[in-house]
Amino acid sequence: MSNPRPRPAYTSPPINRDLYDRIAATAGDASSRTLVTEFLIPPRSGKAWHVPAGAILRLSTPEGPQVGDFNLWNMHNPRERLWASRTRQLEKSHVSVGNRLWSSLPFMRPMVTIIADSLADYGVDAVGGRCHDLLGTRCDPYVNKLITNDDFDLHCHSNLTRAVLPYGLTEFDVHDVLNVFQVTGLDEEGKYFMRASPATGDTYIEFFAEQPLLCALSTCPGGDLSNWGWGDDGAMEDVCRPIKVEVFEIPRHARNEVLRDWEESKCPDYKGLHGMKSPQSE
Ligand SMILES: [Zn+2]
Repeated sequence: MSNPRPRPAYTSPPINRDLYDRIAATAGDASSRTLVTEFLIPPRSGKAWHVPAGAILRLSTPEGPQVGDFNLWNMHNPRERLWASRTRQLEKSHVSVGNRLWSSLPFMRPMVTIIADSLADYGVDAVGGRCHDLLGTRCDPYVNKLITNDDFDLHCHSNLTRAVLPYGLTEFDVHDVLNVFQVTGLDEEGKYFMRASPATGDTYIEFFAEQPLLCALSTCPGGDLSNWGWGDDGAMEDVCRPIKVEVFEIPRHARNEVLRDWEESKCPDYKGLHGMKSPQSE
């Protein structure tokens, strides 16, 4: 007799599907979606940028497969940032349309909602791999040193660190990532594995900003992960490509209709005293 399927331990609140379908439907319609920011992040580098609340962020791979390591902070308060592990619990280990990325305590509110994903049909592959990974984290020069005894300065942690320095942040602010366009899983022993990115020149993912954001993305030095290894033997460089960033705003005349029923995300209203009585002394 098979065991019953375990019940998910956490459930995220339902989302307003009509709202996010309306936002996603603005794609390709210049009258209801205005391009305000557009740039390419070159291979093996990082860049940070702002996304206003209520705007759409589109990441794409116009030159072919490439994985990206994505960080998010509240634009005005970098103590509020992506909480990858709680997002895994509330949503899934690998995210797609309808999933949200949640922020750290004591904020714990949606940062973005995924509204489009051209890899949504990837599903689960033959070895249990899934796409858009929250299981792992960024590659970094410290673990590179630990494993190979080599110095390498273009890991995602370093790319993200250089990207956020102009915004007054440091490597202490870089945090566990969403790996976009990246297929990963856990093997039978629970060990983390990565597979080649299934992205093509037409691949994209779109996020709707539920609050004002500072975003940063690294184009991983492992490229599309088809030829991946520690250190830098030069072979990986051949499979490294840029990632395109676009930010779209819903123009004023379309907001009442497209963003009907939307408001900036709210924190749970727990009073935050953790059982302490206040005042604690006279
Ligand atoms: Zn990386």
